[in-house]
Amino acid sequence: MRQFDVAILGARGVGKSALTDRFVTVRDVFVDKYDPTIGEQYHPSMVVDGEQDSFKFFFTTGVEQFTAFTEVYIKSCHGFVLVFSLTQEGSLKEVESLRKQIFRIKDSENVPIVVVGTKSDLVSEREVPTTTIETLASRWNLPFYETSAKRNWHINDIFEDLLRQMRVR
Ligand code: GDP
Repeated sequence: MRQFDVAILGARGVGKSALTDRFVTVRDVFVDKYDPTIGEQYHPSMVVDGEQDSFKFFFTTGVEQFTAFTEVYIKSCHGFVLVFSLTQEGSLKEVESLRKQIFRIKDSENVPIVVVGTKSDLVSEREVPTTTIETLASRWNLPFYETSAKRNWHINDIFEDLLRQMRVR
């Protein structure tokens, strides 16, 4: 079993904790460890294609919050979940700048990334149509998922996709 370091990035309030909590609590197997450098956190594991690996999550908000520490951590992360809210158009612009920052910091465009639009259950509050994000995601050549942490829609898909990408890098 390998452990992959994964950064969950996106504007404040888009649902980063909600989606990660949902992922952690639906795991049938997860180990709870204490890492004195980062603090208490979960190390959920997942079986994909018959193989089990685990994740260590790191959270940060928008690009304007980046510190020297954030940059060091991003450089060492194996994969990235770029999160925006389907109910908040501005949070999608943040994804664009996060993507650029990751390529700069990693000094590569060959980086495992999944783009996630959250809160798909809030249909009447939706600001970002599927066509907009599909166009962007295909221009970026990145996989994209619409999720709801509230309804547990497509949460596993994010981490399966990312795990497959990280295994082959
Ligand atoms: P973070 O700052 O990105 O970690 O955002 P949080 O996970 O704290 O979520 C911000 C707010 O959005 C909270 O009130 C959540 O309950 C709500 N929220 C997060 N995900 C969803 C979702 O999928 N559907 C709905 N309806 N609300 C959500």
